[in-house]
Amino acid sequence: MELRGKQVVVVGMAQTGVALAKFCARRGARVIVTDAKPMEKLGEAAAALAGVDVTWEVGGHEMMSFTGADLVVMSPGVPDLVEMKAARAAGVPVWAEIELAFRYLHPEASLLAITGTNGKSTTTALTGALCEASGRPSFCGGNLGNMPLIDAVDHPANVAGGLIVAEVAAFMLEHCTSFRPRVGILTNVTEDHLDRFVTMENYAHMKGRIWDWQEGDDLAIANAADPWVVREAADVRHALAWFDSRPGARPERGAAMSDDRREIVLRHVPGCADEERYPVDDLVIVGNHNMENAMGAYMAARRAGVSIEAVRAGARGYRPLPHRMEWVGDKGNIYFYDDSKGTNVASVAASVRGFPRPLVLIAGGVDKGGSYAPMLEALDGVCKGIVLIGKAAPLIKEAAIAHGVRYPLIDATDMHEAVAQATALCVPGDAVVLSPACASYDMFQNFGHRGRVFRDAVSAVGAIRKDV
Ligand code: ADP
Repeated sequence: MELRGKQVVVVGMAQTGVALAKFCARRGARVIVTDAKPMEKLGEAAAALAGVDVTWEVGGHEMMSFTGADLVVMSPGVPDLVEMKAARAAGVPVWAEIELAFRYLHPEASLLAITGTNGKSTTTALTGALCEASGRPSFCGGNLGNMPLIDAVDHPANVAGGLIVAEVAAFMLEHCTSFRPRVGILTNVTEDHLDRFVTMENYAHMKGRIWDWQEGDDLAIANAADPWVVREAADVRHALAWFDSRPGARPERGAAMSDDRREIVLRHVPGCADEERYPVDDLVIVGNHNMENAMGAYMAARRAGVSIEAVRAGARGYRPLPHRMEWVGDKGNIYFYDDSKGTNVASVAASVRGFPRPLVLIAGGVDKGGSYAPMLEALDGVCKGIVLIGKAAPLIKEAAIAHGVRYPLIDATDMHEAVAQATALCVPGDAVVLSPACASYDMFQNFGHRGRVFRDAVSAVGAIRKDV
């Protein structure tokens, strides 16, 4: 789309909105930036857009600006506003940021996109590391961290042969009309965000849209062990490869573990040799869920032409992201782990299942509307107690009692108290794990902030991480 002289409304003035506004202004559009928040709360955006020619409409939205626009483009997380519905009814395209970005990507750059309930960031960052190791120009971003996909457009990777890796959220796919990645990975679909998508069918279907515009030998990568993913994959008519981490699994085309579970084996994957084997020892990330993340990443990178050697070198150099079961300190042989990114039940279950030492869990925050049972089952046998914080505390307590747990359930008013209480339940050899199964915004700005407060609380009980 030619933006010069067009009226573009950018909705949501966090980091992505700012990047969008700059992008459109640079291309000569008349940009209106809008946010429900008042100007006083948009200081960072205002500073970032100082000197950029945009019109501000804040503290709400102007209907006329939307219906009179040539394009409305939104940041992730912005709900489907009445103004956006009206714009659509008036024939105005209303796109997610990734849709606009996609339209500016070089047709011969490889876009590798990753979505799913859990494992998106890890799979994205790992795929990015493999691409980087190839020596070809590469970009890794999207929902992950601070590089929205729109920033890929003016990045050196946006050339023939470039590699562009992007984490995408279901919220964004909802507002796409042609987003066509060369490879699309759907990691899994478990209960999350039901407050917004209402039903699992709807939520799974939004995620399945990652494959909707793919064609020919574009590759869809799907989790064979996830019934919702399998259901979405049933509609795929183009190239499809599976990953399956279950013992003995052997997908016809795709990735599985070797019998001794020491290798990831790719068989008959488009773009790969008939069989390729990758040692698990190349990776420092552990756990079954991370093997699944690696399987997706390896197949995506190989499909995009990254060599086996570069995949292995990239895997060896990859380090886990912060707030994902990150060891943050120990004291008297009690170990503290920050899994603040465990924002839903399935991710907590993945983190604690088979944990190698007894643990006390710190959980709670804003409930997502699903069942806590899978987390409580995964905790059976390893959990010594749960310390509860935030609004969801009574719900988790009720679920734990219904599950028949015999360990203590303790309420805490803030993170410092939670860490102190959890530590008091431990004996040497145990662990305290912050893995809340909930959103953070009742008590914190975001999961990163929650993790940092946890870290402060861990140092307040005298635990330190000795290597930093
Ligand atoms: P996302 O970006 O989708 O939130 P992350 O890679 O940041 O995913 O991981 C978030 C949490 O989800 C991790 O702390 C881990 O407990 C869990 N997790 C990671 N990968 C998977 C997976 N493939 N399946 C289930 N849970 C996972």
